Amino acid sequence: MIRLRFAPSPTGNLHIGSARTALFNYLYAKFLKGKFILRIEDTDILRSKKEYEEDIISGLKWLGINWDEGPGVDSVQSYYQLDRWKQGIYNQYCQQLIEEGKAYYCFCEQEEKDKDPLQLSYKYSGKCRTLSNEQIKENIAKKIPYAIRFKVCEEVVVFRDLVRGDISFDMALNGDLVIMRSDGMPTYNFAVVVDDMDMQITHVIRGEDHISNTPKQIQIFNALGKTPPAYGHISMILGPDKAKLSKRHGAKSITEFKNEGYLPEALFNFLALLGWSHPEDKEVIFQEDLMTVYDMARVSKSNSVFNIEKLNWLNGQYLRSYTAEHIYNISSEFLDGFNKSLYNKDQLIYILDVIKENLNLLSDIPTQLAVFFTTQVIYEKEHVQLEMIPMIEKFEQGLRDLEFTSEVISEYTNNFVKENNIKKGQIFHNVRYAVSAQQKGPSLFKMLQVFGKEKVCQRIGNYIAYVKTCSGS
Ligand code: GLU
Repeated sequence: MIRLRFAPSPTGNLHIGSARTALFNYLYAKFLKGKFILRIEDTDILRSKKEYEEDIISGLKWLGINWDEGPGVDSVQSYYQLDRWKQGIYNQYCQQLIEEGKAYYCFCEQEEKDKDPLQLSYKYSGKCRTLSNEQIKENIAKKIPYAIRFKVCEEVVVFRDLVRGDISFDMALNGDLVIMRSDGMPTYNFAVVVDDMDMQITHVIRGEDHISNTPKQIQIFNALGKTPPAYGHISMILGPDKAKLSKRHGAKSITEFKNEGYLPEALFNFLALLGWSHPEDKEVIFQEDLMTVYDMARVSKSNSVFNIEKLNWLNGQYLRSYTAEHIYNISSEFLDGFNKSLYNKDQLIYILDVIKENLNLLSDIPTQLAVFFTTQVIYEKEHVQLEMIPMIEKFEQGLRDLEFTSEVISEYTNNFVKENNIKKGQIFHNVRYAVSAQQKGPSLFKMLQVFGKEKVCQRIGNYIAYVKTCSGS
């Protein structure tokens, strides 16, 4: 059985990089017709927070990444490392390694250095490897703090990366690894192996920052007598300037994207294409279709660039493919600020249909809607065309007798420009300005229909009066 997992540490919100890792695992699991598991790696008690865990969980759900096993799914086992630690699971495997002579008690203060990522060149000497049982007992009796170290085998570990092909590491460069700290907590490399083993994970897709952990994890797997999963390391996401992705360029949390009016399906589609390409180079691909083609063989080894214009474009593609009614249903928070008494639901849906073509993000809705809700139309002198006033007066008179639908107004306008031998653009421009004080905006006739005859005629009247006052006539 194929089993993949996403194993976030709840030390921050779900950001674009980790969401992409989750999505790659999820899609590859579905492609292989396997299971996708969510595991919360919360053993870093100081940095882990419940609010981050909630953000990760809600972000994944919002994106449409659903797990078969994990928090919230009925199960006898826990998918939280802290729970599993309390159950003594890591300790049990640690004892097994000690008993089999594959790990040992270490009383060296140097252990602290292992925790410090900046001590890159530090290699533990192996001093405590040879302590006798008596010495160990004596030190424990003296309450000298100890860690448990794994005996690293000084060999070259070679593994076939699902993305990068064969990768080899000389483990002679590594000292023996701490697997249990003196505070009794398992280290990342140990906990992850125990969990991947217990949860029968078959494939691990994660960021390339984990590459150097993989040979260590493979050795621990081997020491526990189990076959390690297949590993694939995906490249980084860079900003358009080819530097590490910054907040300004998209290194934001999934919740921020949601609040900015992105659609989960568009973001999902976008993330899937960050370092993976469709066999036919398709760009707009639904989740169900991605599941059928998401082979790791198509993952790029090179870093991918986060292109916000592409995300906005994709979002617009999805948004404009929806019915106005659907857009109405998913955009309540962007409609909140508007005076609900002005239009009923059906009218509002009609308006959304009118502005749909101009939308990329749901958050574009308020700007596009504003024109339908303004009660004050304020003209500016420099935009008025005095010479058009007689035509506009005539146009307005004709409007009074119309059945006020966009089709009828359109037909009337076409005839009007022919009969009066003027350019369509002139009427369009002046009428739009008269009713909205704007130079551009949504489809004119549909907008006029929404406003209704009374408001349209009144505003045109006001406009004519304004122009006349300006010109002093
Ligand atoms: N908790 C680790 C992280 O968030 C998991 C890494 C892994 O997938 O092994 O980086």
